[in-house]
Amino acid sequence: MNVINAVAERPDTAKATTYDAIIIGAGISGMFMLYRLRELGMTARVFEMGTNVGGTWYWNRYPGARFDSESWTYGYSFSKELMQEWDWKEHFSPQPDTLEYLNHVADKFDLRRDMQFRSTVTSAHWDDAANQWHVTLEGGQKATSRFLFTAVGILSAHTLPAIPGRESFQGPAYHPARWPHTPVDFTGKRVGIIGTGATAIQAIPEIAKQAKQLTVFQRRPNWAAPLHNSKISKEEMEKIKARYDEIYAYCATTPMWFIHQMDHRKTLEVPKEEREAFWEKLYAEPGFGIWLGNFRDIGTDEEAAAAISEFIANKIRQRVKDPKVAEKLIPKDHPFASRRVPLESGYFEAYNRDNVRLVDTLNDETIECITPQGIRTNKQDYEFDILIYATGFDGVTGAFDRIDIRGTNRVRLKDAWAESPRTYLGMLAEGFPNMLMVLGPHTARGNIPQAIEHSVQFQTGMLKFMQEHNYTHVETRPEQVDEWTQTVIKAAEPLLSSKVDSWQTGVNRNVDGRTVRRVLGYNGNGVHFRRLTDQVAKDGYKEFSFR
Ligand code: NAP
Repeated sequence: MNVINAVAERPDTAKATTYDAIIIGAGISGMFMLYRLRELGMTARVFEMGTNVGGTWYWNRYPGARFDSESWTYGYSFSKELMQEWDWKEHFSPQPDTLEYLNHVADKFDLRRDMQFRSTVTSAHWDDAANQWHVTLEGGQKATSRFLFTAVGILSAHTLPAIPGRESFQGPAYHPARWPHTPVDFTGKRVGIIGTGATAIQAIPEIAKQAKQLTVFQRRPNWAAPLHNSKISKEEMEKIKARYDEIYAYCATTPMWFIHQMDHRKTLEVPKEEREAFWEKLYAEPGFGIWLGNFRDIGTDEEAAAAISEFIANKIRQRVKDPKVAEKLIPKDHPFASRRVPLESGYFEAYNRDNVRLVDTLNDETIECITPQGIRTNKQDYEFDILIYATGFDGVTGAFDRIDIRGTNRVRLKDAWAESPRTYLGMLAEGFPNMLMVLGPHTARGNIPQAIEHSVQFQTGMLKFMQEHNYTHVETRPEQVDEWTQTVIKAAEPLLSSKVDSWQTGVNRNVDGRTVRRVLGYNGNGVHFRRLTDQVAKDGYKEFSFR
């Protein structure tokens, strides 16, 4: 059976076909971009594949899906009114609440009237003579616009495992990023899950509570640390609301725009006892402190990374009863924090349950194929009622690759970026005029909604500048692209994460050609990035070429 797709209906049809701007995607980026473009008096149309707003939080409805960043730092901050009227219920918001929040935003600002759902953009071609983009949707509908905004997200191009026989499985199979809109009932079911990334780490403890048996196929284990989620009381929420200005101002001073600030001491210069006490404290606290509030050099120094890795490994050993299983769950090929750290709620304890078993497909047995009944390894056949492919995404550039985007001289973006993306600030690509990327490759990310707001503010600020000067065409200059690409590559060099395969380094063996590491984000300090972009704006966007 094929993987179940949550959306199977035909596209709506729009009345008008020419707009000032077309926005691809109705997630956090597309929603805010639409809001700001309207303020500039522009006509805009959002084309969205799904049946409603929400992007990541629309698609990823799997059990256990939730923020692992503090809710009250992870929403929109552009509207004080919105901030004051919305109550987060938990410190790390579960997916249904987040989707409700995004629907509330869409209602409040009446965003849906300029959105067309069930509409997949298949191509976007630049027409130099007409100074506009021609966009085609699946089904043939066409639209044109002066500006094209890609609000496609960095983790939206989900990938299924390249394992033979996938189509033959007779039961339902799901990718978490295409989870059905009605809950999946695991009661009494034998469930197999492939993958142990952040998604699986959230889903496994929840599925384990219901399923008759859950078998986890792990290739490489991931480091993970406790989330320590809790409810937010009414009184606590009022206090948070009163401090919003202070909270967001503080986030803007941290390298990744989160509430956590790195500790500038060097790990090994801190006496062992003090260091361990610090780590104990971080491990017991909610959120990303253990990663983003840790000693700064754990991300760059191998010995420092080995020390924190050993600390976390011991935590896994303490939490998992079977020492053999514990060892299998401890990564040996990369240190802690060299891949994006998943935060978990009872992930390791799930392996103490009688109905959960771990299959180590790196050391013990290898998956040979999917069969009509389940999964065959070189050692045995496993039978399942339900399969879950928690096999991740073609990160950052994947969503771009899936659209036939052509710029000047019909050059394909996919070809231009074949080896590696090249952009200026992650916002414009050379040879693709009037195409602005909200979370493009090589931009600063960290706290994603904050990064989105910053990017949208910068880009709409530039559009305002263009309106004031009667410009209708913007391009980036080759020398700016060269310089920014070098800056981005240099910023990634000292990082241990650059030496590890992950979606962040662009490696995904389920996608043809995605075996070589690339730099896909700006890993420098977000504070510097803000400063730089603010300066570019202040100086009249001299780095861009307008006409
Ligand atoms: P992921 O981290 O890339 O994990 C994919 C998993 O599937 C890995 O364990 C991978 O093994 C395995 N896999 C892939 N193809 C396979 C194959 N053919 N055979 C066997 N195993 C295979 O993807 P993800 O878990 O979806 O997470 C991606 C990112 O989404 C996260 O890093 C995070 O940034 C984001 N995310 C965020 C949240 C949140 O904010 N709360 C939650 C979930 C995800 P290998 O490691 O060996 O390749």
